[in-house]
Amino acid sequence: MNQYVQEILQNDRIPSPPSVAIRLLDLVSQPDVNVDELTKVLSADPRLSARLIAYCNSPMVGSKRKIASVPQAVMVLGLRTLRLLSLSFSLMDTQSKSDFDFDDFWRSSLATAVAAKCLGRRSGQSGDEEFLLGLVLNIGMVGMGVTSPQKLTELLADGKAMSEITIEMENSVFGTNRFEVGGKLLEKWNFPSAMAQTIGDFNPEQLNPESTRLALGQTLAALLLSTDVSEAQLAQAKTDALTLAQIDDVGFRELFDEMVAQWTGYESLFNFDSIAYGSLQELEERAKDSMMKISLGMDSEIQRMTIERKELEERVMIDVLTNLKNRAAYNIEVSAAFEHHRRNQMSIGVVVIDIDHFKSVNDTYGHAAGDDVLRAVGRCLATNCRKGDSVYRYGGEEFVAVIHNCEFNSIKAVANRFLTAIQDLQIETDVHSLKITASSGACWADKANVQSVETLFNHADKLLYKAKVNGRNQMFIDDVTTLSAAT
Ligand code: GH3
Ligand code: MG
Ligand code: MG
Repeated sequence: MNQYVQEILQNDRIPSPPSVAIRLLDLVSQPDVNVDELTKVLSADPRLSARLIAYCNSPMVGSKRKIASVPQAVMVLGLRTLRLLSLSFSLMDTQSKSDFDFDDFWRSSLATAVAAKCLGRRSGQSGDEEFLLGLVLNIGMVGMGVTSPQKLTELLADGKAMSEITIEMENSVFGTNRFEVGGKLLEKWNFPSAMAQTIGDFNPEQLNPESTRLALGQTLAALLLSTDVSEAQLAQAKTDALTLAQIDDVGFRELFDEMVAQWTGYESLFNFDSIAYGSLQELEERAKDSMMKISLGMDSEIQRMTIERKELEERVMIDVLTNLKNRAAYNIEVSAAFEHHRRNQMSIGVVVIDIDHFKSVNDTYGHAAGDDVLRAVGRCLATNCRKGDSVYRYGGEEFVAVIHNCEFNSIKAVANRFLTAIQDLQIETDVHSLKITASSGACWADKANVQSVETLFNHADKLLYKAKVNGRNQMFIDDVTTLSAAT
């Protein structure tokens, strides 16, 4: 036997079932038990007897007579059922002082038991053995959880539920799994050996008719207890029911609603928290709702990302110093504008502006003062053109204004206004008050009738050079449409 399994079996913190359960286990294996013997054992545990009687009077049994005693309960349920049921109920009192969440464990085990019972009944069984098997299917978890709480916590990290832990995960963390441990634990508790073996040999990868019921029971139990079921989880459970137990859609509905009804009965008997659904239909509606919520969430996530990307793109297009659009923005926007104007027979003008002797501003007053000048010029250009026109910081101390759909004379006026406004600026830096000038070259193309926007820009740049050579603080402008017509 695996050493760790041995350690678990010898661990005295592992709870053993209540003494009543031990005695009931004895009775379960005896073929000729009578009512008196069973009554004697059960009377040692008044809470258990009361529960059994309450069970008999609940809608789960549907007895017409009111049941008030154990012998009467035997009459309604039969000796065998009552024995198995008492054992099951008494096992659920198995607890120990540890951090292991026994309430949660028994609640989910009860759900598996209910599902296994309903599945057993569908295939003509009483459902009593199935209930008990379902109840102890995961009992090995108690052994591992109490012996190595730290490792269990690791497995349950990120809000994982017990039902989400796979056998592979357990094997890799504990070197064993709940079924192996469970089988040994049940043997130790003197469980009927066939039952202990069913649990010990349980392998989700190699199912036989009995273990198929348990495996499917486990899946259905997870669905029953889920608080936030997804459509995928629901569809998977339906597929499992169909492939493992040939339960079709109608059958699934009957089965699940039967499970809900049974659960509701047990829930009040054991004071467990209620489940989130009253029927399969309710569960399906919730799944649909959560699907919608997910897709709505995705919509808003996409929207958020689109906005974020747009902001990022915009940021890349902005010059941080002057807050004007930059050269990258110019390249993208001016080509688009040019094509548009050409198609729509609109004129386009490009004005290139360069600050005069800017290097000496830096050299004389410092780089920070130079920056102040650039900011002031940027603001000045932006305020001296129309709203629809665009001003870009092309690079260094060079700016470009693109003027849309306007007469040659108007562009000429705009370009001149730029230079006058710059010349009139009184730029306040930290220490000094500066005055500067700029030179400019401008080009205009009627109906954007020119080879390309680059032609327009290059010619404006040549005119700027001409203005510089000619003494600065001046502007030259050409109508490139007549120029190109002339050549
Ligand atoms: P010209 O009249 O012929 O245009 O002479 P200029 O001095 O204006 O031209 P030049 O190209 O010789 O010098 C441009 C200077 O602009 C050099 C560079 O250090 C400065 N410059 C470029 N970008 C920035 C900036 O962001 N901030 C500052 N303060 N200076 C800059
Ligand atoms: Mg310059
Ligand atoms: Mg320059």
